[in-house]
Amino acid sequence: MQRKAAGAAGTRGRSPVTPGRRVLAKYGETLLAALAKLGVHSDFDLVLHLPLRYDDETRLYPIAAAPSGSSVLVEGTLVDSSVKYRPKRQLVCTIEDESGVLVMRLLNFYPSQAKQLVPGARVRLYGEIRQGFFGAEMVHPKCRLVSEHAPVPDTLTPIYPTTAGLSQTALSRMVHDAIAACDLRDTLPPDLLRRLKLPDFRLCIDYLHHPPRGAPQAGLQERSHPTWRRMKFDELLAQQLSMRIHRERRQTLAAPALAPRDALTHALVSQLPFQLTGAQDRAAAEIRADLAKPHPMQRLLQGDVGSGKTIVAALGALQALENGYQVAVMAPTEILGEQHFNKFSGWLTGLGVKVVWLAGNMKRKDRRVTLAEVASGAAQVVIGTHALFQDEVEFHNLGLAIVDEQHRFGVRQRLALRLKGSDAGAGVQPHQLMMSATPIPRTLAMSYYADLDVSVIDELPPGRTPVATRLVSDTRRDEVIQRVRDACVAGSQAYWVCPLIEEAEAEQGAADGVPAKPAASAAKRMRGRLEALQLQSVLDTYERLRATFPELSVGLVHGRLTGAEKFAVMEAFKSGAVQLLVATTVIEVGVDVPNASLMVIENAERMGLAQLHQLRGRVGRGAAKSACILLYQSPLSPFARDRLKIVFETNDGFEIARHDLRMRGPGELLGARQSGVPMLRFADVSVDLDLVEAARDVAGQILSLHPEVARRHLERWLGGKEHYLRV
Ligand code: ADP
Ligand code: MG
Repeated sequence: MQRKAAGAAGTRGRSPVTPGRRVLAKYGETLLAALAKLGVHSDFDLVLHLPLRYDDETRLYPIAAAPSGSSVLVEGTLVDSSVKYRPKRQLVCTIEDESGVLVMRLLNFYPSQAKQLVPGARVRLYGEIRQGFFGAEMVHPKCRLVSEHAPVPDTLTPIYPTTAGLSQTALSRMVHDAIAACDLRDTLPPDLLRRLKLPDFRLCIDYLHHPPRGAPQAGLQERSHPTWRRMKFDELLAQQLSMRIHRERRQTLAAPALAPRDALTHALVSQLPFQLTGAQDRAAAEIRADLAKPHPMQRLLQGDVGSGKTIVAALGALQALENGYQVAVMAPTEILGEQHFNKFSGWLTGLGVKVVWLAGNMKRKDRRVTLAEVASGAAQVVIGTHALFQDEVEFHNLGLAIVDEQHRFGVRQRLALRLKGSDAGAGVQPHQLMMSATPIPRTLAMSYYADLDVSVIDELPPGRTPVATRLVSDTRRDEVIQRVRDACVAGSQAYWVCPLIEEAEAEQGAADGVPAKPAASAAKRMRGRLEALQLQSVLDTYERLRATFPELSVGLVHGRLTGAEKFAVMEAFKSGAVQLLVATTVIEVGVDVPNASLMVIENAERMGLAQLHQLRGRVGRGAAKSACILLYQSPLSPFARDRLKIVFETNDGFEIARHDLRMRGPGELLGARQSGVPMLRFADVSVDLDLVEAARDVAGQILSLHPEVARRHLERWLGGKEHYLRV
């Protein structure tokens, strides 16, 4: 389970002399920089800088009776001390109390310490007692000189997450000052807290920073203690409130009202070789109603791979076209973009609609022509990659932006595309339809997507036979090869997938225009090398398979090919000229070749579950019985086997996503690049379902009944800033 560093939510752009920085204002630049690294930008951030764990110095043990296996507090008189040089320079002291003696070793010590630690000194040590060669020992404990009968603290000692240049002592003092300086009165009404069985805010802050003697350390560590639940609830409530406000604000923005005219949409539906499923109909109707409103739609269309999202998007596109508006379709990779281009052209060209393709690596002249067509409005549907929102692209009147595999794009890119459309009309924004085949489990959708409307296609088109998945050790590679040969000889086609980092990631950095930091460039070089290695492995696999199957036509596709090269290979595969396609994960999303019925995935143990499920979705698209073979490098660890078993046992994308969420945290599903996604620092949506639900319900009630409570709560948690908000 991942734990975000406290303060990961980040708070930008605060000026140094805001009222919320009375404590911070006392410190110099160096300390402030260290605090900023911890995500602390205001006094209240210090209040919320919660301990990682606690030392229990509330109980003094006699040396002879102190339990072993955990840290304990003992006290005694120093009877002997000397600096030894074997095996390493160290200060060795003998300490004695009424019950026994103990040797303390300090490996790093200051001369001043050595001067104080002389026979007769009374010391208190906190550390773990081990039985060494010379009896009981403490290596490098916390060590303090004390006067006789000095009282022991009655609260646990907090240990805070910290960073170089900031000591525990200094940090503790800052937190203490901030708690004294901040207004910690409860933002929520007492009857609500009683109903939810949540403790008072101030009480929680005091408890979490200084739990009383005997406090249940396990519950605090696991963040299941009622005080932790209060922190989580407050954080989730702030998230829910801000998202709801954002959603309501959307209702005040203007978008072209695209009334359904049904001329083109009916024409398309009547010429389809299939009937829409009930789920497709439902989703299409929801989009249709949204588009007719004079406010920007922001709808997420979710559906498992192969559920038929594209046709639903195309129907939405037609509604915009019928009203004289342009449509942009953005895909994360060129392969997927070109496939959309083919599909949309196939469906729409016959209806008299001009569909154009706009990619980054087009020939200069073609690009210029296309850009002119987009600007004049002659091009009605513009399909491409992130090239769509570059500066030189100017739309005539963009009415709808469709973003496929939306989690592959950064928030900034989606915003850029939307702003493109608003250049044209004064204050008018295009509608936005996002599609995702990575099913988002309910809790995630409820928290991170609370500001979006969601349509789900929860039904596959009829006639699909489920893909049979097999887990096979690569020691049985020969059998797999035979299987591929049989399938291809019988007229079917196959994929052979090798893991490679997703090309979208490499493209992304450049597209985001992130300035290369020194650390980032090292990481980039590292990734470059890794990529080169992986590329080599797919090239090797390709050569090996070509030698293995002299009778088959084998193709190769990976992220380093040019757009034209990729296009040529994919066309050859689609037409059947290529029988076996060796590929990296560039084919993960969207690729649609119904005659392919077999997929082999190498090193499946290295891939994410949702990714494997996506890959597997490339087969089983035709009527033929399909199979997916997960080849793993043996031996497989029990953990890896359990993970793979999930993909092997279920075909349900939602089920798989839930497991991914549990095992790898939300970042994996939402896409690590979702820089605008408010990462929660306290709540964990994979375990705190009940709190997410409670926060959602309460947010609705508060906003309608007690708007002042909402304002106070948001002020506290967001400091008046809206960094939690998505764009
Ligand atoms: P995805 O949701 O993964 O993007 P696609 O839109 O690519 O899925 O659709 C997968 C395939 O199913 C395509 O070949 C598409 O033409 C076909 N398809 C879509 N809807 C239906 C339907 N209702 N009946 C039969 N086939 C359909
Ligand atoms: Mg798709």
